[in-house]
Amino acid sequence: MMLELTSLKELLAQPGRIVITTHHKPDGDAMGSSLALYNYLVQKGHHVRVISPTDYPVFLHWLPNNPEVIIFTEKPEESRIHVNEADLIFCLDFNSLSRINELGDIVREARGKKVMIDHHLEPEGFDDFRHWSINACATAQLVYDFIVNIMHEPELINKDVATCLYTGIMTDSGSFRFPTTTPEVHRITAELITKGAENAKIHQLVYDNFSEERLRFLGYCLLNKLEVLPEFNTSIIVVTQAELRHYHITTGDTEGLVNYALTINGIKLAALIIERADRVKLSLRSTGDFPANEICKKYFSGGGHRNAAGGQSEERLDKVVARFKEILPEYKSLLIV
Ligand code: 5GP
Ligand code: MN
Repeated sequence: MMLELTSLKELLAQPGRIVITTHHKPDGDAMGSSLALYNYLVQKGHHVRVISPTDYPVFLHWLPNNPEVIIFTEKPEESRIHVNEADLIFCLDFNSLSRINELGDIVREARGKKVMIDHHLEPEGFDDFRHWSINACATAQLVYDFIVNIMHEPELINKDVATCLYTGIMTDSGSFRFPTTTPEVHRITAELITKGAENAKIHQLVYDNFSEERLRFLGYCLLNKLEVLPEFNTSIIVVTQAELRHYHITTGDTEGLVNYALTINGIKLAALIIERADRVKLSLRSTGDFPANEICKKYFSGGGHRNAAGGQSEERLDKVVARFKEILPEYKSLLIV
């Protein structure tokens, strides 16, 4: 490590210029972690900027201090200046610079020290300091740990910090139901509620906010687009550009869709394959030991966690779907148990 913990603490002890960034199309954990860290660092007198590589779902726009977030694609020059001027660059919820698109090269070349806080497999190694564990249910759990057990400043977890951290843990743990939800996660969550996170309200703000069109799109996909392959315990939903346009689907509207395909009794692998404007995006979910991330890494230039992974392809939609189906026999022994 090029940055010792003591040096990091020294840097954080004096007001400085800090940039926080996270992966493109950030989710609840990415934005929750970023704004939690923002709300913590501003209390210490730092000049902090949160830069997201792209836009993100409207159901995250209520997060405390969300208006402070700069979107790189909207303000590339301003973003570049902030990154170049930063003494410290926090990289949250990703560990490979390709996950932040064009911002990646800017961060790589910036003079500021890079601090990575993340829970994904196989870090690329661009960081100068890391707080990393694949056992964490969310990056937000590691940000909590950073503030409480590394910085020893639990008193700076105010209501805003607690609200953001709660959002990250809630979304990445599938509302506290994934196997990563350990007793420790529940203890942290209890502490966040004690510090002011309004759990019922946060859940409602994130999950009960569908537009009528989004709900009808969900119904349409489940009725007409869900394909079940019982011989592989696999289900697939394929969505075209035309369908996205027809239902006016925007960033975040397809989130959670793939999980429905996994709710069928006996299904071990679920895939959502979406024809985006520039490429085809895959989202895989699995149960138990099935390595969804291995398929994404090996065949679709992606990765992720064992039970939740993603990837992409430059090929045509029908080609990608055919490729995905061709792969299944290779994994048959793991799918049929
Ligand atoms: P989603 O299906 O929600 O887009 O992504 C699920 C998980 O897979 C994410 O939390 C992320 O860890 C991972 N993931 C998604 N897309 C990619 C990708 O293109 N590359 C890598 N390395 N991981 C991805
Ligand atoms: Mn995460």
